[in-house]
Amino acid sequence: MTSTAYILLGSNLGDREKYLSSAMAMIKEIPGLKLCGSSSVYSSKAQQMASGTPSFLNQAIKVKTKFTSIELLTALEKIEQALDRTDKGKQLSRTIDLDILLYDTEIVDTERLTIPHPELLNRAFALIPVIEIDPTLVHPLTNKRLKDYLNDEDFKLVRQKEENAPVSC
Ligand code: ADP
Ligand code: MG
Repeated sequence: MTSTAYILLGSNLGDREKYLSSAMAMIKEIPGLKLCGSSSVYSSKAQQMASGTPSFLNQAIKVKTKFTSIELLTALEKIEQALDRTDKGKQLSRTIDLDILLYDTEIVDTERLTIPHPELLNRAFALIPVIEIDPTLVHPLTNKRLKDYLNDEDFKLVRQKEENAPVSC
């Protein structure tokens, strides 16, 4: 069975554009996974991190996959490691962060994995790129449209940086 997942790519350390594009290239190479959509790149100030923390670039992607959600997480963690990610779980600057936002309408709450991503509804820098791919997406716990969690201020703080060529499958 094939599932659809939305993943958020983030970087605020080193050559951020390069880390995003390298992660994307590596994701495309994963067997058993197909890239079906990709948002523009967005820029926003670091939130809830020490003052002076470099700003973030974020991009959302949509994939179709035969992996279970935990297998997908494991595959993404391998890419993070290959792209110099250190200090997991410490809220520090990172070369690359790959978070699963949604996986079908699955609800997971384990030590290693929470889906939908627990901060999705609080993070405009995740919501804005993901609704660019699919404006009709609904949050599986609240059954409300993701776009209804955003206001005008959010769109001022999360700036579209580079438009992306559309992908579909
Ligand atoms: P954050 O992305 O919140 O900054 P990290 O990338 O350092 O945090 O990851 C911390 C832990 O979050 C990981 O060890 C991973 O097991 C866990 N985690 C829980 N849910 C998810 C999810 N939906 N996507 C990615 N990681 C998750
Ligand atoms: Mg993460």
